Amino acid sequence: MLEVEGFTKYYGDLCAVDDLSFRIEAGEFVTLLGPSGCGKSTTLHAIAGLVEPTEGRTRLRGDDVTDLPPEKRNIGMAFQSTALFPHMTVRENIAYGLRMHGYSKADIEGRVDDSLALVDMPEHSEHKPGELSGGQQQRVSLARALAYEPDILLLDEPLTGLDRVLQEEMRSWLRRIQLEVGVTTLYVTHDQEDALSMSDRVVVLRDGRAEQIGSPELIYESPESPFVAEFVGKSTQFTGKVAEADGGVVVHSDNKKITLPDSAPSPGTDVTAYVRPEDVRVSIDPTRSTNEFPGTVLNISNLGNRAEMTIELTDGKTVLAHTGRFPNFAVGDNVYIQFDIDRVIVL
Ligand code: ADP
Ligand code: MG
Repeated sequence: MLEVEGFTKYYGDLCAVDDLSFRIEAGEFVTLLGPSGCGKSTTLHAIAGLVEPTEGRTRLRGDDVTDLPPEKRNIGMAFQSTALFPHMTVRENIAYGLRMHGYSKADIEGRVDDSLALVDMPEHSEHKPGELSGGQQQRVSLARALAYEPDILLLDEPLTGLDRVLQEEMRSWLRRIQLEVGVTTLYVTHDQEDALSMSDRVVVLRDGRAEQIGSPELIYESPESPFVAEFVGKSTQFTGKVAEADGGVVVHSDNKKITLPDSAPSPGTDVTAYVRPEDVRVSIDPTRSTNEFPGTVLNISNLGNRAEMTIELTDGKTVLAHTGRFPNFAVGDNVYIQFDIDRVIVL
């Protein structure tokens, strides 16, 4: 559906995108995820034809569109700043986009109505953007991008700047609309929760390069590099050298011995072992299992649907644990933390 092949973009001496290749199948929702400045917007703009890549090709539905102007690409775009015209009504904003794409007056009215119905905003057609909330403006912006049935929808951080509750609501809403319309979508964000919650696949970008490409599950459960492990999701990190012990392999980190899965690198290798907070169990009494360590509860913060506990081990190392909403622990409790060997990610 969309193929990006060997994209490179230099701004003077600065390499913003570095030999980036990926493809998106028809109907897929793919997210470019990475920190600010890693080249996400540049990539999106190059696909749209708004920025000329220094090297590389863009293919859309099998056709090479690299040298086509933006208006010949049949691409729909929406941004964080919605770029709606403030002096036009919602209806006029959407109609304007359709006129730009060559639709007749007769077609336009129907398409405006259909797209407003799609985003649940029919009653706002005569409002000006300034009379709408941020979330409503994003809906209109999406309606405008979808009204002419683009081959691909490009979204650049559309939820950044909305408050947290609205952001979460918009995520599931956006994904629902995308599935309903079946539009192929490339979404750009620095927010890992956006990426993990909506995408079929995620491209993790670092300094203009693809660091890892895969499903949200794969990116989260099997990161291939420390960058991905640390950028996507929380974890506690134990750094040390792999050693043999009791027929298995361990890493000595501070005064502890962390037992590693069989797939760990050979003894002598410097590694970091990552443990996700939801894989850490907390108990008052020891269970005498492998990878169990005593500690003290330093902090408990309620995250709404769960609690995050910070536990200080006897060597001063702090460990994050996610528990049920109301854990039966208090700050200062002496506890044991434990995690299973096969949940340890070794990189
Ligand atoms: P992101 O969207 O991931 O935050 P961008 O693609 O906007 O990253 O930018 C990537 C890099 O390219 C940054 O270092 C940014 O400062 C630089 N950059 C982006 N646009 C321009 C431009 N028009 N001129 C010069 N440098 C730019
Ligand atoms: Mg950007």
